[in-house]
Amino acid sequence: MQVRLNRSVRARRISLRISRDGEVVLTYPWYGRKADALRFLQQKQDWVQAHLQQVAARPAAAPLSEEEQIRAKEYLPQRLSEIAAFCHLSYSRVTIRDMHTRLGSCSRSGHITLASGLIRRPWYLSDAVIIHELCHTVHMDHQEGFHQLMEGLCRRWLAVYAQDPEIAALLSEASHSRARYPLSHALRRRQLRAL
Ligand SMILES: [Zn+2]
Repeated sequence: MQVRLNRSVRARRISLRISRDGEVVLTYPWYGRKADALRFLQQKQDWVQAHLQQVAARPAAAPLSEEEQIRAKEYLPQRLSEIAAFCHLSYSRVTIRDMHTRLGSCSRSGHITLASGLIRRPWYLSDAVIIHELCHTVHMDHQEGFHQLMEGLCRRWLAVYAQDPEIAALLSEASHSRARYPLSHALRRRQLRAL
């Protein structure tokens, strides 16, 4: 997650917003303490994650055609099983359905649900959503452990496709990024752009 700190003369209190390209902007008063602002951000982690997901999951312009629905139900479970095997992670079952507020979910019992709309995204972005949900079979939250696992798995999985120019560009962008989890960050930026 990319956070921009904004120490503001006008601000009277600490506030958070998500910019168009998925950057988290943390504003705090000029006379305030940075440590307090960061603590505020820490407390709002769940809100931030939910909001980022929501922004990324705005419904597609037109409903999926029957052909796309069929393709989603074939492709996504097959891709999930392939990636799970590669990552040595397991899930109990998978459901593909129309979801308008999120791209995927994972229950405590390891039941993964994926939005059929993922079929319209570039393949590596739907892969990233699949990896995200698989990471929830290990970590049910979005804490440090989750992000570390996600970053590492995305790195290993995308390395397989390093010859693909688009993936090469993504990996190169991540290698120059100062974000804490550079690859996850680069992927999220593309998720937001894919709307
Ligand atoms: Zn999640």
